[in-house]
Amino acid sequence: MKNVNNNELRIKDIGRKVTLYGFVANKRKMGELTFIDLRDRWGITQIVIKGNNQKISKESVLKVTGIVIERQDKNKNLPTGEIEIESKEIEVLSSAEQLPFIVHDDLEAKEETRLRHRYLDLRRPKMMKNLVLRHKVNKLIRDFLDSQEFLEIETPILSKSTPEGARDFLVPTRKKGKFFALPQSPQLYKQLLMASGVEKYFQIVRAFRDEDSRKDRQPEFTQLDIEMSYASEEDVINLVEKLFKYIFEKLGRNLSFPIQRMEFDEAMNRFGSDKPDLRFGNELKDATEIFANTSFNAFKKAEKIKYIFVDEILNKKHIKILEEEAKKNGAKGLAWSTIDLELNQKLGPGYKFFEEEINQILTLNEKQQGSILLVADTNDISNKSLGAVRTKIGEIFKYTDKKEDKLVWITNWPLYECDEENKTFSSAHHPFTSPSLDTLDSFDIDKKNAKSRAYDLVMNGYEIGGGSVRINSLEIQKRIFDSLNISKQQANKQFGFFLEAFKFGLPPHSGIAFGIDRLIMILTNSQSIRDVIAFPKNANGIAIMENAPSITSKEQLDEYFIMEINEE
Ligand code: ASP
Repeated sequence: MKNVNNNELRIKDIGRKVTLYGFVANKRKMGELTFIDLRDRWGITQIVIKGNNQKISKESVLKVTGIVIERQDKNKNLPTGEIEIESKEIEVLSSAEQLPFIVHDDLEAKEETRLRHRYLDLRRPKMMKNLVLRHKVNKLIRDFLDSQEFLEIETPILSKSTPEGARDFLVPTRKKGKFFALPQSPQLYKQLLMASGVEKYFQIVRAFRDEDSRKDRQPEFTQLDIEMSYASEEDVINLVEKLFKYIFEKLGRNLSFPIQRMEFDEAMNRFGSDKPDLRFGNELKDATEIFANTSFNAFKKAEKIKYIFVDEILNKKHIKILEEEAKKNGAKGLAWSTIDLELNQKLGPGYKFFEEEINQILTLNEKQQGSILLVADTNDISNKSLGAVRTKIGEIFKYTDKKEDKLVWITNWPLYECDEENKTFSSAHHPFTSPSLDTLDSFDIDKKNAKSRAYDLVMNGYEIGGGSVRINSLEIQKRIFDSLNISKQQANKQFGFFLEAFKFGLPPHSGIAFGIDRLIMILTNSQSIRDVIAFPKNANGIAIMENAPSITSKEQLDEYFIMEINEE
Protein backbone atom coordinates (compact mmCIF):
# COMPACT_ATOMS: atom_id res chain seq x y z
CA MET A 1 0.00 0.00 0.00
CA LYS A 2 1.18 3.53 -0.56
CA ASN A 3 2.15 5.71 2.36
CA VAL A 4 2.71 9.03 0.56
CA ASN A 5 0.15 10.60 -1.73
CA ASN A 6 0.81 12.90 -4.66
CA ASN A 7 -0.44 16.03 -2.94
CA GLU A 8 1.62 15.73 0.18
CA LEU A 9 5.28 16.56 -0.27
CA ARG A 10 6.54 20.10 0.43
CA ILE A 11 9.86 21.97 0.87
CA LYS A 12 10.19 20.54 4.39
CA ASP A 13 10.43 17.06 2.87
CA ILE A 14 13.56 17.79 0.82
CA GLY A 15 16.03 14.93 1.05
CA ARG A 16 13.39 12.32 1.89
CA LYS A 17 13.40 9.07 -0.01
CA VAL A 18 9.84 8.28 -1.10
CA THR A 19 7.89 5.88 -3.27
CA LEU A 20 5.01 7.37 -5.24
CA TYR A 21 2.35 5.66 -7.29
CA GLY A 22 -0.10 7.02 -9.83
CA PHE A 23 -1.14 7.67 -13.41
CA VAL A 24 0.97 9.59 -15.91
CA ALA A 25 -1.04 12.79 -16.33
CA ASN A 26 1.54 14.49 -18.48
CA LYS A 27 5.01 13.94 -19.89
CA ARG A 28 7.56 16.41 -21.28
CA LYS A 29 11.02 15.74 -22.60
CA MET A 30 13.72 18.40 -22.25
CA GLY A 31 17.06 17.24 -23.56
CA GLU A 32 18.35 14.53 -21.23
CA LEU A 33 15.49 14.97 -18.80
CA THR A 34 11.94 13.64 -18.80
CA PHE A 35 9.34 15.31 -16.59
CA ILE A 36 6.26 13.40 -15.55
CA ASP A 37 3.21 14.70 -13.72
CA LEU A 38 2.20 11.78 -11.57
CA ARG A 39 -1.49 11.97 -10.64
CA ASP A 40 -3.44 10.21 -7.95
CA ARG A 41 -6.75 10.94 -6.23
CA TRP A 42 -5.15 13.61 -4.09
CA GLY A 43 -3.12 15.57 -6.63
CA ILE A 44 0.00 15.77 -8.76
CA THR A 45 3.73 15.53 -8.04
CA GLN A 46 6.40 16.14 -10.65
CA ILE A 47 8.93 13.38 -11.29
CA VAL A 48 12.27 14.01 -13.05
CA ILE A 49 13.96 11.16 -14.82
CA LYS A 50 17.52 11.47 -16.07
CA GLY A 51 18.55 9.77 -19.31
CA ASN A 52 15.48 7.64 -19.51
CA ASN A 53 14.80 5.67 -22.65
CA GLN A 54 11.85 3.78 -21.36
CA LYS A 55 8.63 4.30 -23.29
CA ILE A 56 6.09 5.65 -20.86
CA SER A 57 2.69 6.51 -22.28
CA LYS A 58 0.12 8.85 -20.78
CA GLU A 59 -2.20 7.28 -18.18
CA SER A 60 0.16 4.35 -17.58
CA VAL A 61 0.45 3.36 -13.93
CA LEU A 62 3.87 3.94 -12.37
CA LYS A 63 5.73 3.17 -9.20
CA VAL A 64 8.51 5.70 -8.68
CA THR A 65 11.11 5.64 -5.94
CA GLY A 66 13.27 8.73 -5.60
CA ILE A 67 14.48 11.67 -3.55
CA VAL A 68 12.52 14.86 -2.88
CA ILE A 69 14.47 17.82 -4.28
CA GLU A 70 13.77 21.54 -4.61
CA ARG A 71 12.36 22.57 -7.95
CA GLN A 72 14.15 25.17 -10.04
CA ASP A 73 11.02 26.41 -11.85
CA LYS A 74 8.48 26.59 -9.07
CA ASN A 75 4.82 26.10 -10.00
CA LYS A 76 2.66 28.34 -7.82
CA ASN A 77 -0.55 26.73 -9.07
CA LEU A 78 0.36 23.34 -7.65
CA PRO A 79 0.43 22.60 -3.91
CA THR A 80 3.49 20.39 -4.52
CA GLY A 81 4.91 22.95 -6.97
CA GLU A 82 8.02 23.77 -4.93
CA ILE A 83 9.48 20.28 -5.05
CA GLU A 84 9.96 17.39 -7.44
CA ILE A 85 11.11 13.78 -7.19
CA GLU A 86 14.45 12.81 -8.62
CA SER A 87 13.65 9.35 -9.81
CA LYS A 88 16.04 6.54 -8.83
CA GLU A 89 13.89 3.62 -9.79
CA ILE A 90 10.87 3.56 -12.01
CA GLU A 91 8.53 0.68 -12.69
CA VAL A 92 5.65 0.65 -15.15
CA LEU A 93 3.01 -1.32 -13.29
CA SER A 94 0.53 -1.14 -16.14
CA SER A 95 1.04 0.55 -19.44
CA ALA A 96 -1.74 2.44 -21.24
CA GLU A 97 -2.53 2.18 -24.92
CA GLN A 98 -3.73 4.96 -27.20
CA LEU A 99 -6.42 6.81 -25.22
CA PRO A 100 -9.93 7.53 -26.48
CA PHE A 101 -9.59 11.04 -25.00
CA ILE A 102 -7.11 13.07 -23.03
CA VAL A 103 -7.75 12.98 -19.31
CA HIS A 104 -7.96 16.67 -18.55
CA ASP A 105 -10.37 19.05 -16.81
CA ASP A 106 -10.95 21.17 -19.90
CA LEU A 107 -11.96 18.14 -21.82
CA GLU A 108 -13.73 18.56 -25.14
CA ALA A 109 -14.72 14.92 -25.62
CA LYS A 110 -18.37 14.10 -26.24
CA GLU A 111 -20.33 12.91 -23.23
CA GLU A 112 -21.01 9.56 -24.90
CA THR A 113 -17.25 8.94 -25.20
CA ARG A 114 -16.72 9.98 -21.61
CA LEU A 115 -19.45 7.62 -20.43
CA ARG A 116 -18.15 4.73 -22.51
CA HIS A 117 -14.82 4.99 -20.70
CA ARG A 118 -16.16 6.33 -17.44
CA TYR A 119 -13.15 5.14 -15.39
CA LEU A 120 -10.94 7.43 -17.51
CA ASP A 121 -13.41 10.28 -17.17
CA LEU A 122 -13.45 9.87 -13.39
CA ARG A 123 -9.66 10.30 -13.29
CA ARG A 124 -10.17 13.96 -14.21
CA PRO A 125 -9.56 16.05 -11.07
CA LYS A 126 -12.91 17.86 -11.50
CA MET A 127 -14.83 14.58 -11.50
CA MET A 128 -12.82 13.21 -8.60
CA LYS A 129 -13.64 16.39 -6.66
CA ASN A 130 -17.34 15.77 -7.27
CA LEU A 131 -17.06 12.24 -5.89
CA VAL A 132 -15.19 13.54 -2.85
CA LEU A 133 -17.79 16.22 -2.15
CA ARG A 134 -20.59 13.72 -2.54
CA HIS A 135 -18.94 11.41 -0.04
CA LYS A 136 -18.46 14.33 2.37
CA VAL A 137 -22.08 15.46 2.14
CA ASN A 138 -23.34 11.91 2.68
CA LYS A 139 -21.10 11.60 5.72
CA LEU A 140 -22.23 14.97 7.12
CA ILE A 141 -25.86 13.93 6.68
CA ARG A 142 -25.21 10.68 8.52
CA ASP A 143 -23.24 12.39 11.29
CA PHE A 144 -25.89 15.03 11.86
CA LEU A 145 -28.90 12.72 11.78
CA ASP A 146 -27.13 10.23 14.01
CA SER A 147 -26.54 13.05 16.52
CA GLN A 148 -30.32 13.64 16.48
CA GLU A 149 -30.99 9.94 17.16
CA PHE A 150 -32.27 9.08 13.70
CA LEU A 151 -31.79 5.46 12.63
CA GLU A 152 -30.63 4.57 9.14
CA ILE A 153 -32.75 1.62 8.08
CA GLU A 154 -32.66 -0.12 4.71
CA THR A 155 -35.90 -0.89 2.92
CA PRO A 156 -36.53 -3.35 0.08
CA ILE A 157 -35.57 -2.72 -3.52
CA LEU A 158 -37.54 -5.68 -4.82
CA SER A 159 -40.90 -4.38 -3.87
CA LYS A 160 -44.40 -3.34 -4.86
CA SER A 161 -45.46 -0.30 -6.81
CA THR A 162 -45.15 2.96 -4.84
CA PRO A 163 -47.05 5.80 -6.46
CA GLU A 164 -44.94 8.92 -7.01
CA GLY A 165 -46.45 9.80 -10.37
CA ALA A 166 -43.92 8.01 -12.59
CA ARG A 167 -43.85 4.70 -14.44
CA ASP A 168 -42.50 1.70 -12.50
CA PHE A 169 -39.51 -0.42 -13.41
CA LEU A 170 -40.67 -4.01 -13.27
CA VAL A 171 -38.57 -7.07 -12.46
CA PRO A 172 -39.89 -10.39 -13.78
CA THR A 173 -39.68 -13.38 -11.49
CA ARG A 174 -39.76 -17.14 -11.94
CA LYS A 175 -43.24 -17.11 -10.42
CA LYS A 176 -45.37 -17.12 -13.50
CA GLY A 177 -46.85 -13.74 -14.40
CA LYS A 178 -45.54 -12.09 -11.23
CA PHE A 179 -43.34 -9.05 -11.12
CA PHE A 180 -41.57 -7.02 -8.51
CA ALA A 181 -41.63 -3.24 -8.94
CA LEU A 182 -38.58 -1.20 -8.03
CA PRO A 183 -39.52 1.50 -5.51
CA GLN A 184 -40.17 5.00 -6.85
CA SER A 185 -39.42 5.93 -3.24
CA PRO A 186 -39.48 4.09 0.10
CA GLN A 187 -42.65 6.03 0.98
CA LEU A 188 -44.81 3.16 2.26
CA TYR A 189 -41.95 1.46 4.08
CA LYS A 190 -40.94 4.60 5.92
CA GLN A 191 -44.52 5.17 7.01
CA LEU A 192 -44.66 1.55 8.17
CA LEU A 193 -41.47 2.18 10.15
CA MET A 194 -43.44 4.86 12.00
CA ALA A 195 -46.11 2.21 12.68
CA SER A 196 -43.22 0.07 13.96
CA GLY A 197 -42.26 2.67 16.55
CA VAL A 198 -38.94 3.73 14.99
CA GLU A 199 -39.98 7.39 15.39
CA LYS A 200 -36.92 8.84 13.64
CA TYR A 201 -35.88 7.21 10.36
CA PHE A 202 -33.58 8.13 7.56
CA GLN A 203 -31.93 6.40 4.66
CA ILE A 204 -29.63 7.37 1.83
CA VAL A 205 -31.36 5.23 -0.72
CA ARG A 206 -31.70 4.50 -4.40
CA ALA A 207 -35.08 5.15 -6.01
CA PHE A 208 -36.24 4.27 -9.51
CA ARG A 209 -38.60 6.07 -11.87
CA ASP A 210 -39.05 5.07 -15.46
CA GLU A 211 -39.30 8.50 -16.99
CA ASP A 212 -37.27 10.40 -19.54
CA SER A 213 -33.85 11.52 -18.35
CA ARG A 214 -33.05 15.22 -18.21
CA LYS A 215 -30.02 17.12 -17.09
CA ASP A 216 -31.42 16.95 -13.54
CA ARG A 217 -33.09 13.54 -13.76
CA GLN A 218 -31.95 9.91 -13.93
CA PRO A 219 -33.99 6.68 -13.99
CA GLU A 220 -32.19 5.61 -10.81
CA PHE A 221 -31.28 8.31 -8.36
CA THR A 222 -30.37 8.73 -4.72
CA GLN A 223 -32.62 10.20 -2.08
CA LEU A 224 -32.06 11.26 1.46
CA ASP A 225 -35.30 9.92 2.87
CA ILE A 226 -36.52 11.08 6.28
CA GLU A 227 -39.60 10.30 8.36
CA MET A 228 -40.50 11.43 11.89
CA SER A 229 -43.32 10.52 14.26
CA TYR A 230 -45.24 13.12 16.29
CA ALA A 231 -43.84 15.80 14.00
CA SER A 232 -45.60 18.69 12.30
CA GLU A 233 -44.45 20.55 9.18
CA GLU A 234 -42.65 23.03 11.49
CA ASP A 235 -40.68 20.18 13.09
CA VAL A 236 -39.57 18.84 9.69
CA ILE A 237 -38.64 22.31 8.45
CA ASN A 238 -36.65 23.00 11.63
CA LEU A 239 -34.78 19.72 11.43
CA VAL A 240 -33.92 20.27 7.76
CA GLU A 241 -32.72 23.82 8.40
CA LYS A 242 -30.44 22.56 11.17
CA LEU A 243 -29.14 19.84 8.85
CA PHE A 244 -28.47 22.32 6.05
CA LYS A 245 -26.82 24.75 8.43
CA TYR A 246 -24.52 21.94 9.57
CA ILE A 247 -23.67 20.84 6.02
CA PHE A 248 -23.16 24.36 4.65
CA GLU A 249 -21.01 25.43 7.58
CA LYS A 250 -18.82 22.35 7.26
CA LEU A 251 -18.44 23.02 3.53
CA GLY A 252 -17.64 26.68 4.20
CA ARG A 253 -20.63 27.89 2.18
CA ASN A 254 -22.77 30.84 3.21
CA LEU A 255 -26.46 30.49 3.72
CA SER A 256 -28.75 32.64 5.80
CA PHE A 257 -31.31 31.15 8.13
CA PRO A 258 -34.21 30.79 8.54
CA ILE A 259 -34.83 29.82 4.94
CA GLN A 260 -37.42 32.02 3.27
CA ARG A 261 -40.94 30.61 2.79
CA MET A 262 -43.40 31.26 0.00
CA GLU A 263 -46.86 29.89 -0.64
CA PHE A 264 -47.42 27.96 -3.85
CA ASP A 265 -49.89 30.52 -5.23
CA GLU A 266 -47.48 33.38 -4.62
CA ALA A 267 -44.65 31.48 -6.34
CA MET A 268 -46.86 30.87 -9.37
CA ASN A 269 -48.11 34.45 -9.52
CA ARG A 270 -44.75 36.13 -9.05
CA PHE A 271 -42.40 33.68 -10.77
CA GLY A 272 -44.65 31.39 -12.82
CA SER A 273 -43.00 28.38 -11.25
CA ASP A 274 -43.30 26.10 -8.22
CA LYS A 275 -39.50 26.07 -8.08
CA PRO A 276 -38.59 29.72 -8.53
CA ASP A 277 -34.97 30.72 -8.95
CA LEU A 278 -34.70 33.64 -6.54
CA ARG A 279 -31.17 34.57 -7.59
CA PHE A 280 -32.69 37.10 -9.97
CA GLY A 281 -35.78 39.33 -10.19
CA ASN A 282 -37.71 39.83 -13.44
CA GLU A 283 -40.93 38.95 -11.67
CA LEU A 284 -44.19 38.40 -13.51
CA LYS A 285 -46.52 41.39 -13.20
CA ASP A 286 -50.20 41.75 -13.83
CA ALA A 287 -51.21 44.07 -16.67
CA THR A 288 -54.85 43.01 -17.00
CA GLU A 289 -56.07 46.34 -15.59
CA ILE A 290 -53.73 48.33 -17.82
CA PHE A 291 -55.23 46.62 -20.85
CA ALA A 292 -58.84 46.95 -19.64
CA ASN A 293 -59.82 49.13 -22.59
CA THR A 294 -57.58 47.65 -25.23
CA SER A 295 -58.87 47.42 -28.76
CA PHE A 296 -56.35 44.73 -29.55
CA ASN A 297 -58.44 41.65 -30.24
CA ALA A 298 -56.06 38.95 -29.03
CA PHE A 299 -55.89 40.70 -25.64
CA LYS A 300 -59.54 41.62 -25.24
CA LYS A 301 -60.85 38.24 -24.17
CA ALA A 302 -57.90 37.06 -22.14
CA GLU A 303 -58.53 36.20 -18.49
CA LYS A 304 -55.08 37.43 -17.47
CA ILE A 305 -52.44 39.59 -19.12
CA LYS A 306 -49.04 39.33 -17.52
CA TYR A 307 -45.65 40.70 -18.40
CA ILE A 308 -41.98 40.56 -17.54
CA PHE A 309 -39.74 43.58 -17.73
CA VAL A 310 -36.12 43.00 -18.75
CA ASP A 311 -33.48 45.72 -18.55
CA GLU A 312 -31.64 44.34 -21.57
CA ILE A 313 -32.75 45.21 -25.07
CA LEU A 314 -33.59 41.86 -26.57
CA ASN A 315 -32.61 41.06 -30.14
CA LYS A 316 -34.51 39.01 -32.72
CA LYS A 317 -32.69 35.81 -31.76
CA HIS A 318 -33.61 36.23 -28.10
CA ILE A 319 -37.23 36.91 -28.98
CA LYS A 320 -37.38 33.80 -31.14
CA ILE A 321 -36.03 31.58 -28.35
CA LEU A 322 -38.38 33.14 -25.79
CA GLU A 323 -41.38 32.88 -28.09
CA GLU A 324 -40.72 29.18 -28.57
CA GLU A 325 -40.42 28.72 -24.81
CA ALA A 326 -43.75 30.49 -24.22
CA LYS A 327 -45.48 28.36 -26.85
CA LYS A 328 -43.97 25.15 -25.53
CA ASN A 329 -45.63 26.03 -22.24
CA GLY A 330 -49.10 26.56 -23.62
CA ALA A 331 -49.17 30.23 -24.68
CA LYS A 332 -50.57 31.06 -28.09
CA GLY A 333 -47.88 33.67 -28.53
CA LEU A 334 -45.52 36.10 -26.85
CA ALA A 335 -46.12 39.81 -27.42
CA TRP A 336 -43.03 41.94 -27.06
CA SER A 337 -41.69 45.39 -27.24
CA THR A 338 -38.15 46.74 -27.01
CA ILE A 339 -37.37 50.34 -26.22
CA ASP A 340 -33.86 51.56 -26.97
CA LEU A 341 -33.30 55.20 -26.05
CA GLU A 342 -29.82 55.41 -27.51
CA LEU A 343 -30.94 54.34 -30.95
CA ASN A 344 -34.28 56.06 -30.43
CA GLN A 345 -35.91 52.80 -31.44
CA LYS A 346 -39.17 51.34 -30.25
CA LEU A 347 -39.76 47.98 -31.80
CA GLY A 348 -42.12 45.03 -31.70
CA PRO A 349 -45.79 44.31 -32.10
CA GLY A 350 -46.27 45.77 -28.61
CA TYR A 351 -45.39 49.22 -29.78
CA LYS A 352 -47.45 48.91 -32.89
CA PHE A 353 -50.69 47.81 -31.30
CA PHE A 354 -50.67 49.18 -27.78
CA GLU A 355 -48.19 51.96 -27.42
CA GLU A 356 -50.12 53.68 -24.66
CA GLU A 357 -50.20 50.56 -22.48
CA ILE A 358 -46.49 49.94 -23.04
CA ASN A 359 -45.75 53.51 -21.98
CA GLN A 360 -47.81 52.95 -18.83
CA ILE A 361 -45.79 49.83 -18.03
CA LEU A 362 -42.55 51.80 -18.48
CA THR A 363 -43.78 54.51 -16.15
CA LEU A 364 -44.95 51.99 -13.58
CA ASN A 365 -41.54 50.35 -13.57
CA GLU A 366 -39.75 53.72 -13.58
CA LYS A 367 -37.88 52.68 -16.70
CA GLN A 368 -37.19 54.43 -19.94
CA GLN A 369 -35.75 51.59 -21.90
CA GLY A 370 -35.61 47.81 -21.87
CA SER A 371 -37.84 45.01 -23.08
CA ILE A 372 -41.37 43.98 -22.19
CA LEU A 373 -42.70 40.47 -22.79
CA LEU A 374 -46.41 39.80 -22.50
CA VAL A 375 -48.72 36.80 -22.47
CA ALA A 376 -52.51 37.11 -22.55
CA ASP A 377 -54.28 33.87 -21.70
CA THR A 378 -55.82 32.03 -18.79
CA ASN A 379 -54.23 32.82 -15.43
CA ASP A 380 -52.51 29.44 -15.39
CA ILE A 381 -51.08 29.61 -18.88
CA SER A 382 -49.97 33.23 -18.51
CA ASN A 383 -48.11 32.28 -15.33
CA LYS A 384 -46.59 29.03 -16.54
CA SER A 385 -45.49 30.27 -19.94
CA LEU A 386 -44.02 33.51 -18.64
CA GLY A 387 -42.37 31.53 -15.84
CA ALA A 388 -40.59 29.44 -18.46
CA VAL A 389 -39.67 32.62 -20.36
CA ARG A 390 -38.25 34.07 -17.14
CA THR A 391 -36.09 30.97 -16.56
CA LYS A 392 -34.77 31.21 -20.14
CA ILE A 393 -33.98 34.91 -19.63
CA GLY A 394 -31.96 33.95 -16.54
CA GLU A 395 -30.00 31.48 -18.67
CA ILE A 396 -29.48 33.83 -21.64
CA PHE A 397 -28.22 36.74 -19.57
CA LYS A 398 -26.41 34.47 -17.09
CA TYR A 399 -28.28 35.89 -14.10
CA THR A 400 -27.94 32.36 -12.72
CA ASP A 401 -24.13 32.39 -12.70
CA LYS A 402 -24.12 34.20 -9.37
CA LYS A 403 -22.22 32.39 -6.69
CA GLU A 404 -24.79 32.87 -3.91
CA ASP A 405 -27.35 30.19 -3.08
CA LYS A 406 -31.04 31.01 -2.74
CA LEU A 407 -33.23 28.56 -0.92
CA VAL A 408 -36.96 28.82 -0.43
CA TRP A 409 -39.63 26.60 1.08
CA ILE A 410 -42.75 26.37 -1.07
CA THR A 411 -45.77 25.74 1.16
CA ASN A 412 -49.55 25.49 1.02
CA TRP A 413 -49.63 23.33 -2.11
CA PRO A 414 -52.73 22.27 -3.95
CA LEU A 415 -53.68 18.71 -2.99
CA TYR A 416 -54.42 17.73 -6.58
CA GLU A 417 -53.09 18.39 -10.02
CA CYS A 418 -55.77 18.80 -12.64
CA ASP A 419 -55.35 17.55 -16.16
CA GLU A 420 -57.44 20.23 -17.91
CA GLU A 421 -57.76 18.22 -21.10
CA ASN A 422 -59.08 15.01 -19.58
CA LYS A 423 -60.61 16.70 -16.53
CA THR A 424 -58.94 14.19 -14.25
CA PHE A 425 -57.26 14.78 -10.93
CA SER A 426 -54.09 13.21 -9.61
CA SER A 427 -52.12 13.80 -6.39
CA ALA A 428 -49.85 16.84 -6.60
CA HIS A 429 -47.39 14.97 -4.34
CA HIS A 430 -48.54 11.43 -3.51
CA PRO A 431 -51.80 10.03 -2.15
CA PHE A 432 -50.50 9.79 1.44
CA THR A 433 -50.19 13.56 1.79
CA SER A 434 -52.54 15.06 4.34
CA PRO A 435 -55.08 17.65 3.15
CA SER A 436 -54.71 21.03 4.83
CA LEU A 437 -56.69 21.50 8.04
CA ASP A 438 -58.77 24.22 6.30
CA THR A 439 -59.86 21.90 3.50
CA LEU A 440 -60.19 18.69 5.51
CA ASP A 441 -63.99 18.72 5.19
CA SER A 442 -64.19 19.80 1.59
CA PHE A 443 -61.11 18.48 -0.22
CA ASP A 444 -62.92 15.71 -2.09
CA ILE A 445 -65.90 17.88 -3.01
CA ASP A 446 -63.99 20.93 -4.16
CA LYS A 447 -60.80 19.41 -5.54
CA LYS A 448 -59.71 22.54 -7.37
CA ASN A 449 -59.40 24.47 -4.12
CA ALA A 450 -58.14 21.61 -1.95
CA LYS A 451 -54.81 22.35 -0.28
CA SER A 452 -52.28 20.00 1.27
CA ARG A 453 -49.78 19.98 4.11
CA ALA A 454 -46.91 19.51 1.67
CA TYR A 455 -43.69 21.49 1.46
CA ASP A 456 -40.89 21.56 -1.10
CA LEU A 457 -37.40 22.93 -0.66
CA VAL A 458 -36.15 24.77 -3.73
CA MET A 459 -32.54 25.76 -4.29
CA ASN A 460 -31.45 28.04 -7.14
CA GLY A 461 -34.46 27.03 -9.24
CA TYR A 462 -34.25 23.28 -8.59
CA GLU A 463 -36.61 21.29 -6.42
CA ILE A 464 -34.15 19.58 -4.11
CA GLY A 465 -36.61 18.14 -1.63
CA GLY A 466 -40.25 17.60 -0.91
CA GLY A 467 -42.42 16.07 1.73
CA SER A 468 -45.55 16.41 3.79
CA VAL A 469 -47.49 15.71 6.92
CA ARG A 470 -49.02 12.28 6.27
CA ILE A 471 -52.53 11.03 6.61
CA ASN A 472 -52.90 8.89 9.70
CA SER A 473 -56.64 8.34 9.65
CA LEU A 474 -57.98 5.43 7.64
CA GLU A 475 -61.15 7.36 6.90
CA ILE A 476 -59.27 10.26 5.26
CA GLN A 477 -56.96 7.90 3.42
CA LYS A 478 -60.01 6.16 1.99
CA ARG A 479 -61.57 9.49 0.96
CA ILE A 480 -58.35 10.36 -0.85
CA PHE A 481 -58.39 7.08 -2.77
CA ASP A 482 -62.06 7.61 -3.64
CA SER A 483 -61.34 11.11 -4.86
CA LEU A 484 -58.60 9.75 -7.11
CA ASN A 485 -60.99 7.15 -8.49
CA ILE A 486 -59.01 4.32 -6.94
CA SER A 487 -61.60 1.66 -6.20
CA LYS A 488 -61.75 -0.19 -2.90
CA GLN A 489 -60.55 -3.40 -4.57
CA GLN A 490 -57.74 -1.62 -6.30
CA ALA A 491 -56.66 0.13 -3.08
CA ASN A 492 -56.73 -3.14 -1.18
CA LYS A 493 -54.80 -4.97 -3.85
CA GLN A 494 -52.14 -2.32 -4.13
CA PHE A 495 -51.95 -0.91 -0.60
CA GLY A 496 -53.89 -3.37 1.58
CA PHE A 497 -50.79 -4.27 3.61
CA PHE A 498 -50.23 -0.59 4.29
CA LEU A 499 -53.84 0.31 5.06
CA GLU A 500 -54.01 -2.48 7.61
CA ALA A 501 -51.36 -0.70 9.69
CA PHE A 502 -53.79 2.20 10.22
CA LYS A 503 -55.91 -0.16 12.34
CA PHE A 504 -53.28 -1.12 14.87
CA GLY A 505 -52.04 2.24 16.14
CA LEU A 506 -50.29 4.56 13.69
CA PRO A 507 -48.57 7.59 15.26
CA PRO A 508 -49.05 10.88 13.43
CA HIS A 509 -46.01 11.45 11.26
CA SER A 510 -44.37 13.62 8.64
CA GLY A 511 -41.37 13.39 6.40
CA ILE A 512 -39.39 14.60 3.46
CA ALA A 513 -36.99 13.32 0.80
CA PHE A 514 -34.10 15.09 -0.90
CA GLY A 515 -32.52 14.42 -4.25
CA ILE A 516 -28.88 13.91 -3.31
CA ASP A 517 -27.71 13.98 -6.93
CA ARG A 518 -29.39 17.31 -7.59
CA LEU A 519 -28.06 18.80 -4.39
CA ILE A 520 -24.50 17.73 -5.23
CA MET A 521 -24.94 18.98 -8.80
CA ILE A 522 -25.74 22.45 -7.44
CA LEU A 523 -23.03 22.37 -4.77
CA THR A 524 -20.37 21.45 -7.33
CA ASN A 525 -21.68 23.89 -9.98
CA SER A 526 -22.02 20.96 -12.36
CA GLN A 527 -23.99 21.32 -15.56
CA SER A 528 -25.64 17.93 -15.30
CA ILE A 529 -26.70 15.44 -12.66
CA ARG A 530 -24.61 12.88 -14.58
CA ASP A 531 -21.42 14.65 -13.52
CA VAL A 532 -21.97 13.78 -9.87
CA ILE A 533 -22.93 10.13 -10.33
CA ALA A 534 -20.06 7.67 -10.75
CA PHE A 535 -21.77 5.50 -13.35
CA PRO A 536 -24.85 7.31 -14.67
CA LYS A 537 -27.16 6.45 -17.53
CA ASN A 538 -26.90 8.66 -20.59
CA ALA A 539 -29.56 11.17 -21.62
CA ASN A 540 -31.65 8.33 -23.07
CA GLY A 541 -31.54 6.28 -19.90
CA ILE A 542 -28.97 3.82 -21.26
CA ALA A 543 -25.83 2.58 -19.49
CA ILE A 544 -23.60 2.77 -22.54
CA MET A 545 -20.42 1.43 -20.97
CA GLU A 546 -22.04 -1.82 -19.88
CA ASN A 547 -24.61 -1.71 -22.67
CA ALA A 548 -27.68 -2.06 -20.48
CA PRO A 549 -30.53 -2.64 -20.84
CA SER A 550 -29.69 -5.40 -23.27
CA ILE A 551 -31.43 -8.22 -25.05
CA THR A 552 -31.52 -11.42 -23.08
CA SER A 553 -31.48 -15.04 -24.20
CA LYS A 554 -34.55 -17.03 -25.12
CA GLU A 555 -33.71 -19.47 -22.28
CA GLN A 556 -33.74 -16.71 -19.73
CA LEU A 557 -37.01 -15.33 -21.06
CA ASP A 558 -38.52 -18.81 -20.83
CA GLU A 559 -37.50 -19.05 -17.19
CA TYR A 560 -39.48 -15.90 -16.54
CA PHE A 561 -42.43 -17.02 -18.63
CA ILE A 562 -41.89 -14.07 -20.92
CA MET A 563 -42.74 -14.48 -24.55
CA GLU A 564 -40.97 -12.48 -27.16
CA ILE A 565 -43.28 -11.05 -29.77
CA ASN A 566 -41.65 -10.51 -33.10
CA GLU A 567 -43.58 -7.83 -34.85
CA GLU A 568 -43.61 -8.33 -38.57
N1 ASP B 1 -41.68 10.06 -1.13
C1 ASP B 1 -41.64 11.45 -1.51
C2 ASP B 1 -40.82 11.60 -2.80
O1 ASP B 1 -40.03 10.75 -3.13
C3 ASP B 1 -41.06 12.32 -0.48
C4 ASP B 1 -41.83 12.37 0.78
O2 ASP B 1 -43.03 12.64 0.74
O3 ASP B 1 -41.22 12.14 1.84
O4 ASP B 1 -40.93 12.62 -3.46
